Amino acid sequence: MAEKTATLTLVACTSCGKPISPGAEATKFLCPNCGEILIRRCGKCRKFGRPYKCPKCGFIGP
Ligand SMILES: [Zn+2]
Ligand SMILES: [Zn+2]
Repeated sequence: MAEKTATLTLVACTSCGKPISPGAEATKFLCPNCGEILIRRCGKCRKFGRPYKCPKCGFIGP
């Protein structure tokens, strides 16, 4: 029986764009520049310190 991936809307990692599965070691925080966008980073991006970019104000930072 093929198990289909949950159809829940998964949030995407702001850094790599991959969906973050629930329970993953992800983090989320408001953009430190504009404070309006919720930045999400998956465990890998946290680990490797990948940069993220705020889609609203364009702020780039770790
Ligand atoms: Zn990521
Ligand atoms: Zn921002």
